[in-house]
Amino acid sequence: MVRFGHQRGDPGCIARSEWPTAGVAQPSLRSTRHAAVRRTPPTPVIRQLRQEVGFGCPVDGCGSPYLTWHHFDPAWRDEQHHRPEGMIALCVEHAAKADGGAFTDDQLRTLKREGRVHAEAAKGRFDWMRRDLLAVVGGNFYYRCPVVVQIGERNVIWFTRDDAGSLLLNFWMPTASGQERARILENFWVVPPAIRDLECPPSGKRIHVHYANGDETRVEFFEINSLAELIKRYPETGSIVRGAAINWPITGVELWEKAPGTQIEFGPTVTRVGGVQISGSFMSDIGGAGIHIDLPPGVGGLAFHDQDIVLSDMVAADNSILDRMSFRGCRIYGPAVLVPVGGTELKNSNLGGPPQAILWPLPDLQAIVGGVVASGCVFDGCEFFNVGFGMPPDQIPAIRADLTKGG
Ligand SMILES: [Zn+2]
Repeated sequence: MVRFGHQRGDPGCIARSEWPTAGVAQPSLRSTRHAAVRRTPPTPVIRQLRQEVGFGCPVDGCGSPYLTWHHFDPAWRDEQHHRPEGMIALCVEHAAKADGGAFTDDQLRTLKREGRVHAEAAKGRFDWMRRDLLAVVGGNFYYRCPVVVQIGERNVIWFTRDDAGSLLLNFWMPTASGQERARILENFWVVPPAIRDLECPPSGKRIHVHYANGDETRVEFFEINSLAELIKRYPETGSIVRGAAINWPITGVELWEKAPGTQIEFGPTVTRVGGVQISGSFMSDIGGAGIHIDLPPGVGGLAFHDQDIVLSDMVAADNSILDRMSFRGCRIYGPAVLVPVGGTELKNSNLGGPPQAILWPLPDLQAIVGGVVASGCVFDGCEFFNVGFGMPPDQIPAIRADLTKGG
């Protein structure tokens, strides 16, 4: 069925994913004759609509991730249906314009067909500006803790303040899979396109990223009016903040990073670090990090297996540090001088030359310029080509002995 725009008085057909009335069929002549269809489409339909536009509004130049579900073939007022071929994901603004007849059905079909091709990383911003926040991360509560989680020297979940004194959320979780992950920098979030799904209702209070390998990242802001409300939301752990000097009502921000099979996970109810689980803790007014994690070398950064690695491709003009990366069975190419620091391990590897040619004595590792610094990395079973190794002079004899022994 092809329609050209809508008639005057069209009541509109945006299925607003989070409106309180979303579950109620809108009154219409039809609804008296047919069984009412819920206004909110079923989850598989929503997922398909989001995926086909690449998780952003497909209208040229828009890309907003705050999507709603527009029925166009036929319009919702003509038939209450949830057939994805007659629906499209659009942002609130463009769904309203579509309701007004701005786009032909053929144009909407083209947007459905080509949306994913043109899609870029989904981006948005949390507009929740508050002087105080109660952070709920991995089943633990953090109040007035600027740094919630730190791994090694690096902040992973932390807050900064803007000029007006409002707290801004930051989240930069290291990835073990090598797949790009969602990041949040001062409330601005970015989600890479290669994901399975992104839930991002127009209310702007929540994002929920589903990665292809089953991992998830979820962030939600919400209001809590009282301790009783907090306990209702967190029945098992909420009472831990009883008696704390929290000014109710408070805004909460809850963050999950579910990554089963990895060393670190901040699940809905528990924080798991290595074999240790932490949950139901309340931390407030901590100057340092709420949770500080020290990881073994090679954990927490990008991981490479059986790949050709050109060291100069791994660094940027303003950042020459390989951070917590692991390389197993890789062929690593220079020309470059690699400077191992921070517990970096080189094992079972062929360094690719006679000791006097490849070992560069560096008296002061803090003051080097121009080398590729490997911090907390692991090179296991690798073969190096045209690479020098900068290290303190007192370490060289041991390495030299090792190399000579290895032949
Ligand atoms: Zn749009």
